[in-house]
Amino acid sequence: MIQCCICGKKVENDNVQGLKYKRKNYCYECFCNEFNPVEVDKHFAYLKFQDIFNRVPTSAEWTQMTKLVNEHKWEWNKIELILEYVYLIEQREIDEEYGAIGILPFYEAKARKFYDTLDEVYNTLDNVEEPQKVTVYATNYTHKKPVELKSIDQLIDWEEEDDEDWQE
Ligand SMILES: [Zn+2]
Repeated sequence: MIQCCICGKKVENDNVQGLKYKRKNYCYECFCNEFNPVEVDKHFAYLKFQDIFNRVPTSAEWTQMTKLVNEHKWEWNKIELILEYVYLIEQREIDEEYGAIGILPFYEAKARKFYDTLDEVYNTLDNVEEPQKVTVYATNYTHKKPVELKSIDQLIDWEEEDDEDWQE
């Protein structure tokens, strides 16, 4: 248990009810109220990574995540959802070529489809009294032709570009 530094409530340190951030303890509500939504989502994406891989992101991985947000206009929440989709729903291993984060854009469409279906299921359940446990299976995973991966890859430049250098 940890004690929230703002309201004093004691909560589980499970990254759901309570969490640590910058060496302080917060309950979920106070954490969300205290920081701006982007910072909150960013930290939850970080925690999601940690939950999945049992380690913090390497600086290269964190750089890639930040690039997805800054250069590809992803929201942190989207990174969190796609991480969840790739590693918890599809239970993929880390891709040797693209790495834990580099592979995420390839799953964007599939993840969206999955979460859309999930939403539909939840909406249907609204009309059901006392729904029991619901299991949603990811659609059969089939490897797409590599040519498709290549064409997407061209849109993503993971290498640090020294934009200034070549002008000098
Ligand atoms: Zn609190």
